[in-house]
Amino acid sequence: QFPFGRRLPCDIYWHGVSFHDNNIFSGQVNKFPGMMETVRKITLSRAMRTMQDLFPLEYNFYPRSWILPEELSLFVAEVRMMKDSNPSWKPTFIVKPDGGCQGDGIYLIKDPSDIRLTGSIQSRPAVVQEYICKPLLMDKLKFDIRLYVLLKSLEPLEIYIAKDGLSRFCTEPYQEPTLKNLHQVFMHLTNYSLNIHSGNFIHSDSVNTGSKRTFSSILCRLSSRGADVKKLWSDIISLVIKTIIALTPELKVYYQSDIPAGKPGPTCFQILGFDILLMKNLKPMLLEVNANPSMRIEHEQELSPGVFENVPSPVDEEVKVAVIRDTLRLVDPQKKKRKDTHVTVPPKQQWLGVHEHHPALWEVSPWQGVSSEVPPKPTPSVFVCRRCQSLKQAPEASEELPEAPKSPEAALPSLCLKQVFPKYAKQFSYLRLVDRVAALFIRFLGVKGTTKLGPTGFRTFIRNCKLSNSNFSMAAVDILYIDITRRWNSMGIDKESGMCLQAFVEAFFCLAQKKYKSLPLHEQVSSLIEFCECRLAALHGKRLVWGCG
Ligand code: ADP
Repeated sequence: QFPFGRRLPCDIYWHGVSFHDNNIFSGQVNKFPGMMETVRKITLSRAMRTMQDLFPLEYNFYPRSWILPEELSLFVAEVRMMKDSNPSWKPTFIVKPDGGCQGDGIYLIKDPSDIRLTGSIQSRPAVVQEYICKPLLMDKLKFDIRLYVLLKSLEPLEIYIAKDGLSRFCTEPYQEPTLKNLHQVFMHLTNYSLNIHSGNFIHSDSVNTGSKRTFSSILCRLSSRGADVKKLWSDIISLVIKTIIALTPELKVYYQSDIPAGKPGPTCFQILGFDILLMKNLKPMLLEVNANPSMRIEHEQELSPGVFENVPSPVDEEVKVAVIRDTLRLVDPQKKKRKDTHVTVPPKQQWLGVHEHHPALWEVSPWQGVSSEVPPKPTPSVFVCRRCQSLKQAPEASEELPEAPKSPEAALPSLCLKQVFPKYAKQFSYLRLVDRVAALFIRFLGVKGTTKLGPTGFRTFIRNCKLSNSNFSMAAVDILYIDITRRWNSMGIDKESGMCLQAFVEAFFCLAQKKYKSLPLHEQVSSLIEFCECRLAALHGKRLVWGCG
């Protein structure tokens, strides 16, 4: 809402697609720069692979994946090796085009030789992934879970998870994959956008029946069967935190490039859609993360042949309205003010902004425009003066300034978004190694607005951290830079030259392995991080002393 016209700044910007929908210099935007790129299938798989290399047990909730076409021969070789060592292993794989969504272009294969190499794989890269053959079934059907996660802040990291989500059902009874049923999408793919076209799709007005249900209704059924639902939730929370920890290094690089420190800029938050599959043994597995999860609360219904109408979908409404409402409550810039002063400032004031003097007061209705399942209780009419921003109650009620009106929160249901980070930060902070590597990378980027490290930046990093020696000359440093950078740039579509974060991480791991040979990889990396951080702190200290002198 732009009551003063589109040219004046707002407190909250709600973009449809990405951070870059408008040029923004203040307030808060509901998208992070680079989020769409970071959660694409290939980038997510790479980030998860890095974490799996460091912490294989902690990251075993993501299926083994390979990137096509660049890892095709690796895929073929690894599968052959695993089959040789375990002849009874009869795997199935799922091939998913990068950047695809809604099940578009996805197919299942039994053998690496079945990959469709015809044109598309070269022009359209993909991820091939181990297929989870034994999912948990309900009413004999496969289903997945869409959970909504609010990334409220990147630095410091703040994560919230919605207490309820959606379960999306297949429309054909599930059978383990065989050559005969591999192509049956209504049996294997849970996408709503696909299954809606099946004659078996059931739209239900109840949240616990039909082809789309609430996740809480599934938990109720599981609980009545004696399943340990508490453990399941705690596994899901840990999956979400670990996944976001895998994504933050890349996001931080984009963030500093679009919103350089020290320049005026907005802060960001974002609602993400996590797609999770439960295995038969109730272990949650991550399928993917969506940067723009659908927030539709209606579905199309064909009234008569060719005549469609949008009708409300109670299940979507139950879950999604609460997610948007509570996101706005959590990012409400007036909330902190209210807490500090104990004076309720109606939230609409934040949208109005106060720029021109106008003698009149005008009415502000709290939470107007924000739909809620429970209609807000009537609150006293509140007026705001454009000049001094002071609040006044309706003149007919009182000519004096009112007492602090009741908080609009009082009229709302309790929050559906549960904070999980920093709440559980202690348990997970040891996993944030790549974040610290990214901090080193960002420090040496030099030019503001870039996401890639030039050869000089890399050399400065090596010099300042004192990583070169008689066994590792500066010429060897240059070769390492050129080798790794060339390989990464030949894989990417990005035309900017230089070393991207993932290439720097690879170089860093290489250096760590060289320096701390006998340790496990995560210890090698954490030792090198500490070494570099100490060197840089000492250098900084020296510079400060010289500066003072
Ligand atoms: P899209 O973005 O096209 O929806 P997904 O990665 O979500 O792609 O995959 C689509 C569907 O395929 C999922 O909803 C799920 O039902 C199924 N699926 C995806 N990956 C796997 C897997 N590794 N094992 C079993 N089923 C999977």
